[in-house]
Amino acid sequence: MSFVIGKKTPEEISELNEKLIRDGIMAIPNFLEVESAEKIRKFIVEDMPPSWWFLATVPTDQYMLQCVHPQNDEMLKKMWEQAGDKYDMSKLVYRFYRTNSHHETCTCVECDAKKYFNSAECIDFLNQFSFDIGNAITNPETGEEISIKDELHENGSLFSTKYTAGCFLGTHTDKYMGKVAFVFNLTKDWSEEYGGILHHTNKQTGQMDTIYPEFNSLVMFTIPVQTGVSHYVSRIKDDLDSTLGRYAISGWFK
Ligand SMILES: [Zn+2]
Repeated sequence: MSFVIGKKTPEEISELNEKLIRDGIMAIPNFLEVESAEKIRKFIVEDMPPSWWFLATVPTDQYMLQCVHPQNDEMLKKMWEQAGDKYDMSKLVYRFYRTNSHHETCTCVECDAKKYFNSAECIDFLNQFSFDIGNAITNPETGEEISIKDELHENGSLFSTKYTAGCFLGTHTDKYMGKVAFVFNLTKDWSEEYGGILHHTNKQTGQMDTIYPEFNSLVMFTIPVQTGVSHYVSRIKDDLDSTLGRYAISGWFK
């Protein structure tokens, strides 16, 4: 099975690229054709078995990742509370749900989507953009600094994420995680007041921008090699309806 990237005009590409160079972040709207995005959304949001999700928490005594299964209820509760007790958005403290790798031969829609994001077709498309992570070199004759465009390669690490009531991801930099971090948003009709909003330090202004998780948008930001870039995902309202969640496929391209 394959997926199709939504059509973009050269003007749209160039406008996004200018934003990426200036702010260090961009959100490509309607990244995939709508049928492709819907297919992935339906599987991850509706059809995937609950036990394919893992609770990820920091800090915690022993476990950082635990399968969501009734037999783990006690442990899940403990992890949930330990991370909640240390809730502090200024630090790398988190609790949210994510998926783990499946067997290499798995043909589920999530695995297909992950393979597609790592395919030559998708990476070639993304390499139209200028990902500058600060690997500048100095021209020995003129002393002029030349920034090198960083190509992405087909070995990114990807997983799905789910933020429900009380989930959060405190401030961190993604240093050493890859060249570019990305979030492919799978939630429809999200409201900003639910929380779950990405906050990202703008390269130009140094201020935190907020990025709304628009369905089928691909948010990408560069990770400066020396420093990383501070960002966080705001806490989801504790009383949010249990049927609602902020879903995405996210990870890093190397
Ligand atoms: Zn799979």
